[in-house]
Amino acid sequence: MQAARRRERERKQAQAQARRRNNHSSIESALRALGSKDTNFSRVLFEDFLYALYAEVQAARGKGTLDALGSYLAEGAIAAYSPYPAAEVRDVVIGAMRFEAVVAQSKPVRRIELVVGFEVNYTEVSAEGEEQSFWVSEKWRLVRDPDVKSRPPEKTRLFGCPNCGAPQDKSIGSKCPYCGAVASTGELDWTVFSIDIEAREPRGPMLTGTTEEVGTDLPTIVAPDTKSKWSALTEKDPDLRWSSWKARVEAIFQAFHEGWSSQNLALVRPYLSDHLFQSQHYWIDTYRKQKLRNITEDARIISIDLARVLSDAHYDAVTVRIFASCRDYTVDGDGKVVAGSETKERAYSEYWTLIRGAERRGTPRVDPVCPNCGAPNAKINMSGACSHCKAHITAGEFDWVLSRIEQDEVYRG
Ligand SMILES: [Zn+2]
Ligand SMILES: [Zn+2]
Repeated sequence: MQAARRRERERKQAQAQARRRNNHSSIESALRALGSKDTNFSRVLFEDFLYALYAEVQAARGKGTLDALGSYLAEGAIAAYSPYPAAEVRDVVIGAMRFEAVVAQSKPVRRIELVVGFEVNYTEVSAEGEEQSFWVSEKWRLVRDPDVKSRPPEKTRLFGCPNCGAPQDKSIGSKCPYCGAVASTGELDWTVFSIDIEAREPRGPMLTGTTEEVGTDLPTIVAPDTKSKWSALTEKDPDLRWSSWKARVEAIFQAFHEGWSSQNLALVRPYLSDHLFQSQHYWIDTYRKQKLRNITEDARIISIDLARVLSDAHYDAVTVRIFASCRDYTVDGDGKVVAGSETKERAYSEYWTLIRGAERRGTPRVDPVCPNCGAPNAKINMSGACSHCKAHITAGEFDWVLSRIEQDEVYRG
């Protein structure tokens, strides 16, 4: 009897706590719940900001200048790295990033709080010049006033003073030496208030092991408003049809596998966001250094499920789950198979997110040309600009580009 009463009391406490904590399934819904005035919030840009901030933090750690990021990192977050001194941190490749909790807090102050999980590979160089690669898993907790205006796209990757924009190289702690603003707990921009380094394993990327495909038989995670959001998107742009959009995905998929298998990223560069291109570039480089080549032969899409549509002031983002199949194997410098199978089909599924500028309209292109001037894809350089018309095209300025690939076990919707 007593045990039952205790369980009841615990259940009520947990419920009250959940109400107080106010968990949300997305940042957008938490902002809405708080009556946020930030109409510029864009998930695409925010994810870009987080990728950039993570890389900036690791670079600063290597240079010993983490204090200069005091406008974005609270002291406790900076202290998380003090057990791991390094003279340089490089080859930072974020393998996975996900929102693990979104909390809308209305008392004592209105704040949106996030828990972001990162899985990352990086290489540290010690003061003695020794190199060691690591795989790490970290949890970052961030907070922001819901009314702070999100940055415009061109300022997403800059980490100056969140008040006046001045460079922070001379700043000490969280005070800007130019305007005197003190950034604390998310009043001016997102602040990372804690970092937990949950795992840190001294190992480089594993290229030849056999990894079992997990999660392919799980049901597709479909956001509840997907259908209505897709309808709204096609109403905004009547030239956008599911069939033509899917055809663009097919074209990107083919270019992606051709580029990957031949280790020639020029083939796929026009279709990848800058972040995704950098990580693909890193992986191909890593295979090359070990004189290995991973081949995904006869890669083809079996089916595509629509999973999520996001539209904001800057971007439209469409996520699909792709079911595909290929023969996946790795060869060494002599062409000998060292992993996978040349003959066995491997079925798998992944979530792909494509983005396009919110102002753009028109039928997605499937021909391998610059979506602005029609010059052949070969004219598009590694920084994502067309050398013929000079336009940058890989942030979805003209047509849909692939910005994220997430595995079944990572994607949370
Ligand atoms: Zn300032
Ligand atoms: Zn062009």
